[in-house]
Amino acid sequence: MKRTHDCGQLTKADLGATVVLAGWVDSIRDQGGIIFIDLRDRKGITQVKLEPNSNADAGARAAQLKAESVVSVTGQVTLRPVGTANPSLATGEIEVDATGLEIHNISETPPFPLDDAEGDRVNEDLRLTYRYLDLRRPRMRRNLEIRHRTTKVVRDYFDAQGFIDVETPILFKSTPEGAREYLVPSRLHPGEFYALSQSPQQFKQILMVAGVERYIQIARCFRDEDLRADRQMEFTQIDVEVSFIDREGIYALFEGMLAKIWKEILGVNLPTPFPRLAFREAMNRYGVDKPDTRFGLELADLTELFRPSSFKLFASTAASGGAVKALNAKGLADITQGEMTGLEEAAKSLGAKGLAFIKVESGEWKSPIVKFFTEAEKAALTQQLGIADGDIIFFAAAPWEKACAILGRIRLECAALLQKRGKLAIPANQWNFLWVVDFPLMTYDEEAKRFLATHHPFTAPVPEDIPLLDSDPHRVRGQHYDLVLNGMELGGGSIRIHQPALQEKVFKDVLKIPAELVESRFGYLLRAFKFGAPPHGGIAFGLDRLVALLCGTTSIRDVIAFPKTQKAQDLMAQSPTPVTAKQLRDLHIAVVGPPPA
Ligand code: ASP
Repeated sequence: MKRTHDCGQLTKADLGATVVLAGWVDSIRDQGGIIFIDLRDRKGITQVKLEPNSNADAGARAAQLKAESVVSVTGQVTLRPVGTANPSLATGEIEVDATGLEIHNISETPPFPLDDAEGDRVNEDLRLTYRYLDLRRPRMRRNLEIRHRTTKVVRDYFDAQGFIDVETPILFKSTPEGAREYLVPSRLHPGEFYALSQSPQQFKQILMVAGVERYIQIARCFRDEDLRADRQMEFTQIDVEVSFIDREGIYALFEGMLAKIWKEILGVNLPTPFPRLAFREAMNRYGVDKPDTRFGLELADLTELFRPSSFKLFASTAASGGAVKALNAKGLADITQGEMTGLEEAAKSLGAKGLAFIKVESGEWKSPIVKFFTEAEKAALTQQLGIADGDIIFFAAAPWEKACAILGRIRLECAALLQKRGKLAIPANQWNFLWVVDFPLMTYDEEAKRFLATHHPFTAPVPEDIPLLDSDPHRVRGQHYDLVLNGMELGGGSIRIHQPALQEKVFKDVLKIPAELVESRFGYLLRAFKFGAPPHGGIAFGLDRLVALLCGTTSIRDVIAFPKTQKAQDLMAQSPTPVTAKQLRDLHIAVVGPPPA
């Protein structure tokens, strides 16, 4: 039974036609002996009517059908009786009067309802176990379609700009200075391992040496990190590298791509160019390198005000080179004790000892620290922070980056509390894109107790800062850029180092990677750069997150057909699993951990 139409297609124009439809039984009901089936396929729903009187055999077989069974139906398109049309369906004026019914598969009762509203309330583990049913839900199917259309727009955009799509290996070599990697044992080389590619970074740079000039790949990347709503162990990047380009060129290229996606997927015209913000300013004003600029609540810097203060805590922070920052959460003086505890915990999780505050109610400053302030300091605070009745002001005194980070987090929490009270409105369709630029080339890593590349070690320094590499390396800015949307980092990249001597210097002198390691890990790249490496730069964009935004969901699992759970498991296929002793022997692997429970 070959179908003649899809289930979203038939209208009054088809009246009288003999048609064949195929699909899933969305619902089935018996009304006084007449059986009605809502037949569904990807395109829509058509009502099928079976009259057992005139078609006894089909009627008897239809009686065994359950929802989600798969059938084909032959019949005539007829007008629904007056008063029974369904205006919410494209096919709502007609029905198909069935003359034949073929049953392909009788479904068991699905373990959860497949409509959107009820399906959304179901436990996600159950949805992931029966993902093939979950993906039948209109919302999930729409997400898959938006993902498909987005990648098509991306490919067409770059194709039109002369880019070549090149696949790079997934089995790469271990580069332990990045994120934690997945290792793949080599059967042919006992005791040796491949690593799954964390990103095609080194290959795309090598492709520039190879003369490809404009590279694009929609690339799968693998990182063994703890999973969150916006992080999966394997994820997809729009990965790009270009020769003979500067930062401005990259900005324009990606603004063009995003404008095209927003136009074609959402019908929205994005204004370009996007604003830019230097890393230092982003930290100073928003306390984070991916600021959500859809609302104000900006941080103020009070270091100079309190440098001469008799309030020791603030004065000594200023004296030791730290910063005193404050945030006026306007209108949040009615904060509850529970909410306050939540804020204190958030601050403490970032290393704060507590969270100093001033609450202003009925003209009175209520605060354990206000007794330490002089009248002049209070006047300066009022003026600088625009303090009014109903406000609450939070303080952080710590090394600059930490003070910013603490209040940056408090800012976001306060915005959520103000939204809850209806005192702050963020329109759902506001898209605040922003380039964050002028990052430091290196950042001190508390855990590793040394400086690490802020982006990655291939990022070129800002040319005028190169002389500082020897004298004051921590002041060197990198030619690195991040694209931020509404407080989320969508992508990042950099102009790269293309001269082997400078790259070697960054590895050895600045990042202090021992010479033997530089040779074993990056020797091939340094060698490649000795054979005519063009100046180049690139960027990578998280496709999953981008599509999640376009679909209006916060979880990237909703836009990945077969995601892993937070515990890194595939509940449908049930992986990971133990393997046989022979497989392990062949791979020269001995498992020493505890046996599975
Ligand atoms: N490879 C980098 C990343 O995955 C992006 C880039 O520099 O192009 O974050």
